[in-house]
Amino acid sequence: MSSPAESAFQRCIHPDCAQTFSVSEVLTACPKCGSLLDIAYDWSRVAVPKSLREFEARWMTRRNPVDFSGVWRFRELLPFATDEQIVTIGEGQTILQQSDYVGRYVGMTGGQLHLQYEGLNPSGSFKDNGMTAASTHARMVGAKIAACASTGNTSASLAIYASTARIFKVVVFVGSGKIAYGKLSQALDYDARTLQILGDFDDALARVREVAGEKGIYLCNSVNPFRLEGQKSIMYRVLEALAWEPPDWIVVPGGNLGNSSSFGKAFQELKDLGLISRIPRLAVINAAGANTLYRLYEQQGLRWNGGRPDETLVKSFYDDMNTQRRRASTLASAIEINRPVNLEKCLRALDVCDGVVREVDDQAILDAKAQVGAGGFGCEPASAASVAGAKLLREQGVIAPSDKVVCILTGHQLKDPTATVAYHSADVELFEEKLGQRGVKSAPFANRPVVVDNDLQKIIEALGV
Ligand SMILES: *Cc1c(COP(=O)(O)O)cnc(C)c1O
Ligand SMILES: [Zn+2]
Repeated sequence: MSSPAESAFQRCIHPDCAQTFSVSEVLTACPKCGSLLDIAYDWSRVAVPKSLREFEARWMTRRNPVDFSGVWRFRELLPFATDEQIVTIGEGQTILQQSDYVGRYVGMTGGQLHLQYEGLNPSGSFKDNGMTAASTHARMVGAKIAACASTGNTSASLAIYASTARIFKVVVFVGSGKIAYGKLSQALDYDARTLQILGDFDDALARVREVAGEKGIYLCNSVNPFRLEGQKSIMYRVLEALAWEPPDWIVVPGGNLGNSSSFGKAFQELKDLGLISRIPRLAVINAAGANTLYRLYEQQGLRWNGGRPDETLVKSFYDDMNTQRRRASTLASAIEINRPVNLEKCLRALDVCDGVVREVDDQAILDAKAQVGAGGFGCEPASAASVAGAKLLREQGVIAPSDKVVCILTGHQLKDPTATVAYHSADVELFEEKLGQRGVKSAPFANRPVVVDNDLQKIIEALGV
């Protein structure tokens, strides 16, 4: 077998360009036409297993960190690095939980609803799946400084890789005032240089791209094609947990659309390699306050169209957004993004997976989040968009009650405790301040803390048992 880097290359996704570049180059867009880049492989030079089941052999060799990793034990499916180059901190030890409690809320038959808990990653979100791959590439090219713009989880993830692996320094750009404290606290605690840009995420991303270009800093946002390679492994683990039998639906929140893009790429490759016979359908769920994909795909009919999506449609959409000064606004801060950088790749994934897009409002998101918490490990607000979206698709009859559905829970419950406490709290002021201003009117699943005098009799009365 040739060394991994020899079988991997970067390729422009635009079919009229399709220019290729070595994996030793640091690129976040095609230098020729400006389109996004994929990592592609000459599969004939890779020792790909004949069946996905063969990966189970790695369960026996977990003492090897590369086999322990929930990303790299599938390394023949993202073969751009040698084992020695891989940077891993034990990411991807996540589980798929079947939940009838949440299934009833969504409207599913028993046994059919599954929750993929990506909040169990080392930094508490799915971003680690991608950051291990980006960090690996950063090491391959000898990067000294890495940077990202973030609504919080990308910075937490990049910062934990920098603090643990200690091969590069990190600068993170966050929009000011928008970031959940759980996430900000991580970047600070992991000792990352943290710049709070006086603007929102879209502003912070535009700036970090400028700076990265000027200063030769390694960029770790999801325009980095290596990150998306790592995120494919979320789908490998879902398949593994379902005994390699694809579900009917994957439901995922959509922000910058890196995750949905990588899922589509994963399934297309598995199909091409003959490792699965059927591709699940994909549902990407926007927050109603950040619904660019929903509007373009469902309302204006934008499609991948063989790699030539209608550019004038997209341009006039963003021109209108500028003239009307529309800013993303949702308390699901991780998907509070109006200019999704992976739009084209996501259109491709929707094409591959016969996908649909829906929007859900903050009320639906927080109600679903409370149900996820009451029925299992819990999640942060953005993650619950997947469950709220599945419920909506059930109500619309798009998802059948007997379908096998996997909702991706992208981030940990403790990322944004303020939103959780505000929802459950009897404290009207906190509710009003944190949620009321975002259009959340009620909390039907609130579990209010009970205030009681320090008195035995009164405490016994208050036990509620
Ligand atoms: C980053 C993030 C998202 C959005 O994922 P994209 O790949 O940008 O669409 C959703 N949920 C959480 C918790 C995130 O951290
Ligand atoms: Zn190109």
